[in-house]
Amino acid sequence: MQYQSFLIKYAEIGIKGKNRHLFEEALERQMKIALKRCEGQFKVYRTSGRVFVDALEEYDYEEVLEALSHIFGITGICPMRRMDVLPPDEVRDAVVAFIKEEYPEGKHTFKMHARRQDKLYPLDSLELNAMLGEAVLEADERFTVDVHDPEILMTVEIREESIYLYSHILPGPGGLPVGSGGKAMLCLSGGIDSPVAGWMIAKRGIKLDAVYFNAPPYTSERALQKVIDLAAQIAKYTGPIYLHNINFTEIQLYIYEKCPHDELTIIMRRFMMRIAEKIALRTQSQALITGESLGQVASQTMVSLGVTNEVCTLPVFRPLIGFDKEEIIDVAKKIGTYETSILPYEDCCTIFVAKHPVTKPNLNTIKRHELHLNEKIDEMVEKALQTDEILIVDQKGSRVLKASQDPLADGM
Ligand code: ATP
Ligand code: MG
Repeated sequence: MQYQSFLIKYAEIGIKGKNRHLFEEALERQMKIALKRCEGQFKVYRTSGRVFVDALEEYDYEEVLEALSHIFGITGICPMRRMDVLPPDEVRDAVVAFIKEEYPEGKHTFKMHARRQDKLYPLDSLELNAMLGEAVLEADERFTVDVHDPEILMTVEIREESIYLYSHILPGPGGLPVGSGGKAMLCLSGGIDSPVAGWMIAKRGIKLDAVYFNAPPYTSERALQKVIDLAAQIAKYTGPIYLHNINFTEIQLYIYEKCPHDELTIIMRRFMMRIAEKIALRTQSQALITGESLGQVASQTMVSLGVTNEVCTLPVFRPLIGFDKEEIIDVAKKIGTYETSILPYEDCCTIFVAKHPVTKPNLNTIKRHELHLNEKIDEMVEKALQTDEILIVDQKGSRVLKASQDPLADGM
């Protein structure tokens, strides 16, 4: 086992003043959850403003790296060799062996960077730097010193309980640890945009729940599976997601029957947001998230977004608002949702789209037309909420927490 420990670097959470410990605790919690899924036993602990992971037994290096590299709040991951607190000459031999092993080929410039946390250790950091640097120079002529812009910063940490060696810093995803900023409800469709939107808000420390409006039999089981797969991919970063699968068919058909067709999408969107908000309030989410982007389609013009927004009292986060499609696609590819998003299964909006949807809906007109729904809509919304199927989705798959009781939602 080349690396027995990891040093975890975090940037932004280091500057949160009095709340700093809350962020650090959230980071530690997320790391423990992620490592629990990995083979082997690990100790995660914080000391002097840094987080360490010690492997207590054999483990799968790639698996652990994969887990850590999906944890928001982490900016850098340094795989380290951990050893007992040995006398200077033994540390010297270990450092020489380590740097040769890490860089087996080619010429490299380096700088020694010793840190002595344990003030009782016989050499201080300056003496350690001099002694260890010299030893590396003598041991292998491929290495030369460059104190200003070294390729390798060979770090040696002398702590009371162990000594750590490292030279590589692998990137983390940045952001803030999930759970440090509350919870929000993501309106998750099977498209490219909404998974990216959820990921972006989660990256700011927000735990996610999700809601999907399903319209069987106009949408297939495979469309639902696609949404589950997208949630599973996001869950790699966030931990398990509660996905509310709402049967929207009846409401959609009713709107189709009663309202002008050029206003269908906007009225549908208003009902989606109303229902999403009701679930959010019941489940302690403090905001809604959508994948809307200004001007992308008729229902996402500034006026349309205003009309949609009017039904919500919670804040609605639209992190993609200023993104071009290409920019959204780049993020989708980076976070691993793109390939699933482009699978061809219908989502419920595409069935009922009008040829010429309004791009500048008038709020009063929309409200007047919604009155046509008065007879049954409250009952339908209540039924949709009651028959909510809740799935717990994690990166490995999903399981049903609460089954839908709606006969329409089953087997269609
Ligand atoms: P996406 O790629 O996210 O599907 P889109 O470009 O297809 O976005 P719309 O279909 O207009 O855009 O939807 C806008 C937003 O509304 C979506 O990003 C999503 O947040 C939400 N939304 C749309 N359809 C659904 C649905 N069936 N279930 C849940 N949320 C939805
Ligand atoms: Mg969509």
